[in-house]
Amino acid sequence: MNAQKCSKTDLASRLAEAEVTHSLTRDEIVALLETDAYDGALYAAADRVRARYVGDAVHLRGLIEFSNICKCNCLYCGLRRDNRRLSRYRLEPEQVLACAETARSFGYGTVVLQSGEANILPVDRMCDLIRRIKALDVAVTLSMGEKPREVYQAYREAGADRYLLRIETTDRALYRAMDPGMDWDNRVRCLHDLRDLGYEVGTGCLVGIPGQSLESLADDILFFRELNADMIGIGPFIANPDTPLAGSPNGSFELSCKVMAITRLLLPDINIPATTAMETLLPEGRILALQRGANVVMLNVTEMGYRQSYALYPGKAGATDTPAESRARLLAKLQSIGRRPGSGYGSHQRRREA
Ligand code: SAH
Ligand code: SF4
Repeated sequence: MNAQKCSKTDLASRLAEAEVTHSLTRDEIVALLETDAYDGALYAAADRVRARYVGDAVHLRGLIEFSNICKCNCLYCGLRRDNRRLSRYRLEPEQVLACAETARSFGYGTVVLQSGEANILPVDRMCDLIRRIKALDVAVTLSMGEKPREVYQAYREAGADRYLLRIETTDRALYRAMDPGMDWDNRVRCLHDLRDLGYEVGTGCLVGIPGQSLESLADDILFFRELNADMIGIGPFIANPDTPLAGSPNGSFELSCKVMAITRLLLPDINIPATTAMETLLPEGRILALQRGANVVMLNVTEMGYRQSYALYPGKAGATDTPAESRARLLAKLQSIGRRPGSGYGSHQRRREA
C-alpha cells in the first residue's frame, strides 16, 4: 500500500535527500521496510552518515550480566519469571568489580551492567558498587529495567552515566500482549525521567516479535527521534524454547538492519550497537551491522560460569568465548574492514546539523 504512495523514483530520491535532511515520513519508512529494492542504497547511505557524524572508531563496551533474576514475565525472554528451567544467580559486588577491572584492562571505555528486573541489590549497595566502578575511570551504563525516579536519581548521583531501556515496541496492544503486567506508559515515564536526570538515554526495539507490523516499526523509529535518544539498540527477536513463544519464527536479520540503517539516517550522530542478537542470527552479523550504520560493540566480560544462565535467547553469539578471545576476534575483524577501536568513554557527542 505504502509503496504505491511513494513511487519508485520518489523513494530513491527521498532516500538520497534523507542522507542530508535526516528526515523521512512514516509512509516513506514503511515503503523502505516493505521492499528490498533499496536495501543496498539504504545501507550505503547509513554507512556514509555514520562515517560523517561519528567516524570510523568502534566503541567497545564491557558487558557484565550481573544477575538473571527477574520479576517480569516478558513472553519472548528466557529470563522471564515463569521460566523454571533456568538456574538463577546474582554476582556479588566483588565479582562485578573484578569483571569491570577486566573490561578496564582491555581498554574498554565503558562498563555496562545488565540484569533482569528485580531488587538485585539494595539501592545503597548498588550505589556503592557504581562508585567503586567509576573509580576505575570508565563510563558506567546501567540496564536493569524500570525503577522509580528516586532510584534512577540515586544511581545517577553515585556516578552512572547512561541507561539502556528498550521500549521493545511502540505498538501498545502488542506490548500489552508481550509484556503481561507491565505498563507501556510507565516505560516511557522511565525514559523521560532518565533524560531529565541527565543520563545518556538508550532505547530500542525488538524486530520480528509475532504480530508486529511494519507500520509499528516505522513508529518505533519515529519514537526514537522524538525522544532524542542518545543510543539505539535494535535486535531481531530470537525464539526461546523455554518461553511461550517457543517455535515462533525468528525475526529477520535484514529487516533488523533496515530498521537500524533508517535510524542512523534520522539520528545521525547517536551511538548504535551492532547487537549480539544480530551476530547470533548470522555469523558475520555484527560486522555487517557495523557497515550498515552501527558504531558500537558490547563484548561480554561476565565470568564464564554464569554465561549459559543469562539465556535471553538460545545460541547467543560468543557465549563460549572467553572475554580475551571475544576481544581478539573482534579486533581482527575490525581491522579487516578498516575500522579501529575507539578511545575514551565513547559518549554521545551531539553534532547534529540544524
Ligand atoms: N531486564 C532489562 C535488561 C535485560 S533484557 C530490560 O528488560 O530492560 C535486555 C534485552 O534483551 C531486552 O530489552 C530485549 O529486547 C532483549 N531480549 C529479550 N528476549 C529476547 C529474545 N528472545 N530475542 C532477542 N532479544 C531479546
Ligand atoms: Fe526480565 Fe528484561 Fe527479560 Fe523482560 S526482557 S523478562 S524485564 S530480563
